[in-house]
Amino acid sequence: MKILLHCCCAPCALSCVSSLRAQGIESELFWFNPNIHPCVEYNARLECLREFAANEKLNLRLIDEYGLRLFLKEVYGKIDETVSVPERCERCYSLRLEKTASVAAAQGFAAFSTSLLISPYQNHDALKRIGEEMAAKHGVDFYYTDFRPLFRESRTAAREMGLYMQKYCGCIFSEEERYARKSVMRRRALCEEERYVKKSLTQRRGGAEITEEREMGFLDKNLSQRRGGAEITEEREMGFLDKSLSQRR
Ligand code: SF4
Repeated sequence: MKILLHCCCAPCALSCVSSLRAQGIESELFWFNPNIHPCVEYNARLECLREFAANEKLNLRLIDEYGLRLFLKEVYGKIDETVSVPERCERCYSLRLEKTASVAAAQGFAAFSTSLLISPYQNHDALKRIGEEMAAKHGVDFYYTDFRPLFRESRTAAREMGLYMQKYCGCIFSEEERYARKSVMRRRALCEEERYVKKSLTQRRGGAEITEEREMGFLDKNLSQRRGGAEITEEREMGFLDKSLSQRR
């Protein structure tokens, strides 16, 4: 059996393709991602997928149109602040899976699927539901598999192969939210540290005189202990953010 596999990016497609192969299913890759902005990011992800397809000797079908305006029209109508993140993502899934289903049906594929099913950061239940809705609408099967257990392995393999690794989901809004979340987290961490330090100093002082030098030594020691002796690196912060976002979705 051969299916049309919608690919959001090569690092996610990688383990989906190998898992499908292990099940005796061949994939033809399909690129239609008007949700990826700006253009330089769109090109980087597409070029990476082309390279992956060539290396794996896979056929790649493209609708290569940088789709900022289509995305905004379909997902927001007009820029509407009341559209929530889950609703926005569902509209984005519908836009991409509808096109995939229609191409799969028109080209005689037995079924279609999507590499989005590997990501723990996507709304998996919504993807499954929308995939099935689009399948029914276009008269073609949606090949559902929960690829999520393969996510880490796929990212690791992609890194080892030197594939381009994106830093955000795709749309300009997810790019904005990435920075917004980072600064909120930094502010929270600083406030929490400040509160803790003030409380500790009050307890330690116990009415005694304390010099500025002693105070600074004490602060450094406490902060270092609280951080487990390590700096709070951007990577650790992002790991926390990813986890929180995944839970929120
Ligand atoms: S965050 Fe990702 S899934 Fe959601 S709208 Fe943006 S690109 Fe689409």
